[in-house]
Amino acid sequence: MPICGVLGWPVRHSRSPAMHEAGYAALGLDDWRYQLLPVPPELFEETVRALPGAGFAGANVTIPHKEPALALADEATDSARAIGAANTLTFLPDGRIHADNTDAPGLIDALPFDPAGKTAVVLGAGGSARAVVWALAQAGADVLVWNRTAERAERLCAEIGGRPVESPPPRADLLVNTTSVGLQWGEDPFKALPLDADALHGYPCLVDLVYGSRPTALTSAARDAGATVVDGLEILVRQGARSFERWTGRAAPLDVLRAAARGESAADPA
Ligand code: NAP
Repeated sequence: MPICGVLGWPVRHSRSPAMHEAGYAALGLDDWRYQLLPVPPELFEETVRALPGAGFAGANVTIPHKEPALALADEATDSARAIGAANTLTFLPDGRIHADNTDAPGLIDALPFDPAGKTAVVLGAGGSARAVVWALAQAGADVLVWNRTAERAERLCAEIGGRPVESPPPRADLLVNTTSVGLQWGEDPFKALPLDADALHGYPCLVDLVYGSRPTALTSAARDAGATVVDGLEILVRQGARSFERWTGRAAPLDVLRAAARGESAADPA
């Protein structure tokens, strides 16, 4: 019975188990399982090393383990190394541990257009911004990075690519929020971010990595401004789909993963 799971701390609210198990069921992978693996930092490495012996084929990794996951791997993709973090570990038959970062290709998969030659503004310079900036820059976009703490944006751009900016330009093809602003329900994102609702008219497409049980205020304002919106759940689905495909060798049933991540049934009428 192949088992996969998600390592995090805390991780109990993760939607990955529902998403992956729905995918297994849809493809008839009846003996596959996906488990929550709540593991504190001090037990991370020994837990990961014990997983193959317990029947695990792979594991997703989330906060705060993405950097340690890369550090303990025996081999890693170029993207994981460049980003400096891994979110997907695969336990190879010869005992080695392979690390990948599916957050980067997942973002590109979720975009409604090819970002080559486009201008993208990234808000934030934390862990998730590293994958976003790397993915967009590799895909050929001109990437401008704004962060509340300017030195952090400068450091990120020096390491990964993109250009730090003191304030976002009035127009760009794409706006990506990688800050945690909007995570608290009722929080006004325009108090913390360097733009107001009106400024969203200058951005035909918004990606908001933040998600919760309701649309974020930023995604609602962008929809009101007529933008195409990619929300944080779609980003979650796309990175999960890439991990699913790596482990099972099967194309991920995206609609099934999407419905499970949103707490719906894929058969529900839209
Ligand atoms: P992180 O490494 O802690 O970075 C947080 C970022 O948010 C930093 O740039 C920080 O700026 C900024 N920030 C925090 N509070 C702020 C405020 N009040 N005003 C302005 N900027 C503020 O976090 P992360 O791992 O990148 O995650 C960021 C968000 O993305 C979280 O909400 C997370 O849940 C979400 N996420 C979603 C997915 C998905 O699959 N949808 C994947 C990864 C992450 P400073 O540098 O100035 O502190």
